[in-house]
Order: sequence, then structure tokens, then C-alpha cells
Amino acid sequence: MKITFWGTRGSIPTPSTSTFETQRYGGDTTCVSIESGDLLLILDAGSGLRLLGLDLLRRPKPLHATFLFSHLHWDHIQGFPFFMPAFHPENSFHLLGPPLAPNPDSPVCTLERALRRQQDDLSFPVNLEDMSAKLTFADLPSDPIELTGPDTSLHITWAPLNHPGGCFGYRVEEHRPGRPPAIFAFCTDTEHGTQLSPSVQRLAAGADVLVHDAQYSPDEYIGNGGHDHIGWGHSTWEQALAEAQAAGASRLFLTHHDPLHDDSRLASLEKQAHEAGQPLGIQVHVAAQFLSLDL
Ligand SMILES: [Zn+2]
Ligand SMILES: [Zn+2]
Repeated sequence: MKITFWGTRGSIPTPSTSTFETQRYGGDTTCVSIESGDLLLILDAGSGLRLLGLDLLRRPKPLHATFLFSHLHWDHIQGFPFFMPAFHPENSFHLLGPPLAPNPDSPVCTLERALRRQQDDLSFPVNLEDMSAKLTFADLPSDPIELTGPDTSLHITWAPLNHPGGCFGYRVEEHRPGRPPAIFAFCTDTEHGTQLSPSVQRLAAGADVLVHDAQYSPDEYIGNGGHDHIGWGHSTWEQALAEAQAAGASRLFLTHHDPLHDDSRLASLEKQAHEAGQPLGIQVHVAAQFLSLDL
């Protein structure tokens, strides 16, 4: 399975400037693709989705992909209006969202409402109906999802994370004949303070790769030198590493980079986290836009 980071930034796109460089680790908000044989899975639709879309345009049509959304905060959906493959009628996309609706009588799922609202006339000139690809929406089902291709299959489970308004993390297991499963866990937008999260532990158990929120430095989290960020729904690299260690994950990628952290700041956080992971046998990296991993 091939994992590619298309967006790694948290909260708001953060373009690189001459005085605040973000080119190395990326300025676009959350989007990750997972390719397994013919199967294409897209996790979140932050502004990084635009670049994935341009890449997909170079591939033969028709395209089909399944989208999974962690939650519906703006930085995780804002790339969808700019996803060019959704303007080609031969393509089809199945979009699955977390059941975060406060109103159970709603005729459409929460995800569809969020994307429709994002593209209503007041906000954007192109409505969801103007996207000519076949778009189907659904709430996450109650049972695990199985996606099956000719040579591989993906077994997908999820669990709720601690984040204002709710959020879901995902575990994707790739099964191929004659090989042990490859395991990828995706836990962005989550905070659990000094406690381990039972959800992250379940999702990341024995994972080859865990992608985990680490928006704040440990000092920023507790408020050394300013106000704290406790209760804001995000973690630190220390908390992410504790989760990875307890879950037995092999590699940890820190994500949802704070818009106030430029490349040099992230490089120094990466150095600290990498050194802390070494004696534990865990490779720790800061997720970088366009980085691909083969599991
Ligand atoms: Zn976010
Ligand atoms: Zn969020």
C-alpha cells in the first residue's frame, strides 16, 4: 500500500514566504491518499486535495475513489470545491463521513450537508450539483468497511477521538495473498492530555505507520511563555510518541502542523522527537507534503 501526504498543515493553509518558509513540510491542510492495487482511498479533503486532484487528472479515466472524512472542520473539507476530477462525468466518488449530526431527522448525511453548505451561493460560485462526476454520500456504517480489488483488499475500522465537535480516527489494513497485513493508522485532530486514548490504542495496535496529531510543542500545550492550548483538541509530539509506544507502532509521523511553525521550527521539533523515539525503537518523523511511503 502506498501512502502519500498531500496536506499536513493544521487549521489554515500556510503558504511559504521569504520570511516564513513552509515548503519542506508543506503548507496545505490535511489530505492523505492510500493506493492499494486498483483501490484508491482519500482521507480528508483539506486544501492538499487540490494537488492530489491535479495528479489524478494525469491518470486514465474513469477514476473511482472512496473518501473517508475524519470530521467536518473547515481545514478538512476546504479542498473539495477544487478537486478537478469531480468535474469529469465519467468519474465516480463515494464519500463517507462521520455521523456527527446533532439532528437525526436530517434527510441527508452530515458530510453531504457540510459540503453542500460550503458550496452554497453565498460562499462559492460553483455548487455541488455543478460537479459532474457521480458523487454518492453516506454516513459511516456500523460495521467495518471492506474494499476489494483484484489483488488486494482493505479492511477499514474507526473509532471516536477527543476533539471539539467530534472526530474519528481510522485503521486501514491491507491484505494481500501470501503477505502479512500492512497496517496504517490515521489519528489527526485529537487530544488526550496525560492519558492514553483507548481509541488511538485500538486503531494503532501493531501499526506499521501511525500518523498522529502533534500541533503544539510541549511548552505551547501547557502554556510556558504564554497561554496554554489545553482543551483545544490537539496533541504534542510527546503525547503522540507515548501513544505509538504503548500501541507498538513501528513508525510515527507527526501531523497537523501549527500555522505558526515554519520549516526550521518543525525541523527542530522533528530532531527532538526523533531522538526521543530512537531508544524506544520507534522512527519518528514530521509528515512532509508529497512524501510517499510504501508499506
Ligand atoms: Zn484540523
Ligand atoms: Zn478539527
